[in-house]
Amino acid sequence: MLSRTANLRCLLGPTLRTAAAVSVRAEHTLPDLPYDYSALAPIVSGEIMELHHRKHHQTYVNNLNAAEAKLKEAQEKGDVNAMISLQSAIKFNGGGHINHSIFWQNLSPNGGGQPTGELADAIKQDFGSFDNMVEKMSAATIAIQGSGWGWLGYDNRNMSLTIATCANQDPLLPTTGLSPLLGIDVWEHAYYLQYKNVRPDYVKAIWNIINWQDVSERYRNAISQGL
Ligand code: MN
Repeated sequence: MLSRTANLRCLLGPTLRTAAAVSVRAEHTLPDLPYDYSALAPIVSGEIMELHHRKHHQTYVNNLNAAEAKLKEAQEKGDVNAMISLQSAIKFNGGGHINHSIFWQNLSPNGGGQPTGELADAIKQDFGSFDNMVEKMSAATIAIQGSGWGWLGYDNRNMSLTIATCANQDPLLPTTGLSPLLGIDVWEHAYYLQYKNVRPDYVKAIWNIINWQDVSERYRNAISQGL
């Protein structure tokens, strides 16, 4: 949504910038999956993908839009109590929208294998080897208590790759300062229908559908923003 507003502002030119930024603000929408629901099977079943995208992600989008509408109302009234009481709904549903929008792109039916180029070099430098990174990220992600996400992120403060975990739908960037490159959703809705209680099997399997091209692109963007 932010980029859509930004693009419009560029198109409309300087005189209309302020008015456009205020009035053209669109609601968040569910992004299309870049593949069919069944395309990631047998690693993630079509049933899980459809529920996860069409129900879970859609609900985060709907609730984020509802919270933003209430926030706008509270701002118009100058009701600071109401604004503050909306913070957790915005964090939870906004985080859910951000995280899942990255997650769908991080996966691909043609995924798996290993990254090449700059990302491969950085992984080797920061973790010793690709296998060590996978092992470390898997262990941290499996160990999350309750619902949350495991992440490979880029820390532009010391220009290194870092593994982190976030609880619930807390989004990586505002929570830790890391740029999100690769996320693994370990909410039970992401695997339970297929893997039941065996989270380690799901985390082990998901490496077969990681879209390293997408992760590499996020890495390139992250390092170029730090320059
Ligand atoms: Mn999820």
